[in-house]
Amino acid sequence: MPITPTKKIWMDGTLVDWEMATTHVLSHTLHYGTGAFEGVRAYKTPNGVAVFRLREHMDRLLRSCKILMIDVPFTLDQLCDAVVETVRVNELTEGCYIRPLVYLGYGEMGVNPLLAPTNVIIAAWPWGAYLGDDAAENGARMKISSWSRHHPNSMPTASKTVGGYVNSSLAKVEAVKAGYDEAIMLGPDGRISECTGENLFIVRDGLLISPPPSEAGALRGITQSSVVKIANDLGHQVSFEAMRRDDLYLADEAFLTGTAAEVVPIGSVDDRMVGSGKPGPITKEIQLTYFQAVRGLRPAYESWLTKV
Ligand code: PMP
Repeated sequence: MPITPTKKIWMDGTLVDWEMATTHVLSHTLHYGTGAFEGVRAYKTPNGVAVFRLREHMDRLLRSCKILMIDVPFTLDQLCDAVVETVRVNELTEGCYIRPLVYLGYGEMGVNPLLAPTNVIIAAWPWGAYLGDDAAENGARMKISSWSRHHPNSMPTASKTVGGYVNSSLAKVEAVKAGYDEAIMLGPDGRISECTGENLFIVRDGLLISPPPSEAGALRGITQSSVVKIANDLGHQVSFEAMRRDDLYLADEAFLTGTAAEVVPIGSVDDRMVGSGKPGPITKEIQLTYFQAVRGLRPAYESWLTKV
């Protein structure tokens, strides 16, 4: 997924030219992975460009930092305004991706991060379907990873911690090299946790089921929570329940959810077709409604949009 450069990146309160947005090679986060980030999207709506669930994302960023004991020198309102400003100044429209990052900069070496300076950047660029258009339309080929998700006592899974994504990268590389689109990760207890950057749902006998985030050691996904609301509004029941790999193999339908990936049907898991192997009716209905909601085509979800 190459990055398309845009004009400006927000750095610690000012907009700087894209190519000038650099940091020192001795920045703390570069060495120890201390820091937290978000992934946010903005879409074109009938009333102009809007950021989807902006406040929830920036609130999660602050919560991630709270877990890491990083004091962010900006308020929630300031961070939300900064995202809007970054999207506006770069004249971004449909499907743009926004990457806020809190990192520890230059000045201290050693694993104690407490005295390192805190920096915040927000970048945004046009970005298409994270798992590709084919997976989004026809279903992703998934592989259960040989890498387990972190135990929450080793790495706080409720925080989008920079270093935590080494675990996701190991699983992603393993899956991609074996010819799959994405990995599904089991928690240390062998139950289904989440994917490398997405939550997942199955549909069984008309009921939607997703692993309970904190028990499963999964991130509490904002897309996951949007899908729960959408599913309920469409008259479907949703339940958070622990699941094992055979629950995936035997599901009628399955799909994954994430800001970058959006809503993507799961076609197969470990080469076993999920249902007919084609996106199922409930998955398609939720995917369509989600795409309409993010683009401002569903008045019921208007409050999820922040106009740029
Ligand atoms: N799990 C992980 C590990 C993720 O990185 C993401 C992406 N932020 C998700 C789940 C999905 O979260 P969201 O829907 O809030 O993007």
